[in-house]
Amino acid sequence: MAREWEAVIGLEVHCQLKTGTKVWCGCSTDYDNAKPNTHVCPICLGHPGVLPKLNEKVLDYAIKAGLALNCDINKESKFDRKNYFYPDTPKNYQITQFDKPYAENGYLDIKLNSGREKRIGITRIHIEEDAGKSIHTTNESFVNFNRASMPLIEIVSEPDIRTPEEAYEYLNTLKTAIKYTGISDVSMELGSLRCDANVSVREKGTEKFGTRTETKNLNSFKAVAKAIEYEIGRQIELIENGGVVEQETLLWDEANGVTRVMRSKEEANDYRYFPEPDLVKVIIDNDRLERLKAEMPESKIDKVKRFIKEYDLKEKDAEILSNEIELADYFEQVAKYSNNSKSSSNWIITEVLRVLKEENKEITDFSIRAEHLAKIIKLIDNGTISSKIAKKVFEMKLTDSRDPEEIVKVEGLTQVSDSSEIEKIVDEVIANNPKMVEDYKQADEGRKPRVLKGLMGQVMKITKGKANPKLVTELFEKKL
Ligand SMILES: [Zn+2]
Repeated sequence: MAREWEAVIGLEVHCQLKTGTKVWCGCSTDYDNAKPNTHVCPICLGHPGVLPKLNEKVLDYAIKAGLALNCDINKESKFDRKNYFYPDTPKNYQITQFDKPYAENGYLDIKLNSGREKRIGITRIHIEEDAGKSIHTTNESFVNFNRASMPLIEIVSEPDIRTPEEAYEYLNTLKTAIKYTGISDVSMELGSLRCDANVSVREKGTEKFGTRTETKNLNSFKAVAKAIEYEIGRQIELIENGGVVEQETLLWDEANGVTRVMRSKEEANDYRYFPEPDLVKVIIDNDRLERLKAEMPESKIDKVKRFIKEYDLKEKDAEILSNEIELADYFEQVAKYSNNSKSSSNWIITEVLRVLKEENKEITDFSIRAEHLAKIIKLIDNGTISSKIAKKVFEMKLTDSRDPEEIVKVEGLTQVSDSSEIEKIVDEVIANNPKMVEDYKQADEGRKPRVLKGLMGQVMKITKGKANPKLVTELFEKKL
């Protein structure tokens, strides 16, 4: 019988905090368009004799992340030096938290495609500084220290993840939870979220972990899932062929879909960790913790529950609208102004999200204001325009800043609800389409609405979609 295998996966996520200044000095973090080595000072360049000082905002943001991920916040923690020599690390050590992180014992509940829920433990979160960036060209290497000492938190999961899908959903859930708190952009594209995957395999039913590899260079959640899938397959094949998995650091080669060895993995004692003598202990008192708890926004889970209850939405729709806090806010505004939460939800999910996807935009960059989308919905609800015309107004609104009411008025899009005018057109359609009329008369009750649709289409063609559909239906039913 073939041996059955099980993967054991743990993820390490680095998340850049969106503070205005770096973690130990006053250098601005806004260096995206800056020249290399312009956002630096003696502290983040590690000149001898300078002293780092913890940015209070970094601690606040880090605590918020801990709260969002259901962690215990330690009242006392400390910083340590992780020693290694690398050109992009000016001090030759990185300040991090080794044995006493500020947050521990958290968890995230993830939902899988099958509908099954699973709790993934979070071992710890610690604060650390980023390194600079090395740039290699064919003949030369450069180093840019603008990123040196940027504030990071590292979120370490328990080895609770078993499949690439679980890893993918864990990252999505984590991203949403962190993004809700506003402490980070959590964008892999922008580099404010980075993920390393620890993967090992063991025979199903056994307790002991196999030797794990760590895969780096993962630049999207999909890449994480793909790399894990590849690595599981590679390890199983290796063992089944009599080989042994080595403890290694690997690089994901996206183009070829394979992992490659970067270096043999260091043990913790290779780094000679020792307490950072230049920084005091981190003390988090109750006042601070209570203040930050009070500042925490409603979580996604609570929002979904509230949307279902308050706006009578389906769970799936509430989930989609709550994926981003800004989208959820947009929905609530449209629902409030239009007084029609169901239509608001439908318009946002089918039309707004479609446009955002097509234009690769965020809701914060969307051109139609919530009040204006609400007005379009109101114009349908009070019979001024048909939903077909509403779609047209919506499309116009994407590049037209005028009020929807004004567009409808000026462009002459108002629905024709004058029954004598519509009656004339209905009579005309009946006279010109004897075949369809006969068809309608012969059709059974089940088929009648479909034939009627064809006749309605003729009326809409003549009126350019402006006839009130309810009125047209009534007139046809009366006359036929
Ligand atoms: Zn600096």
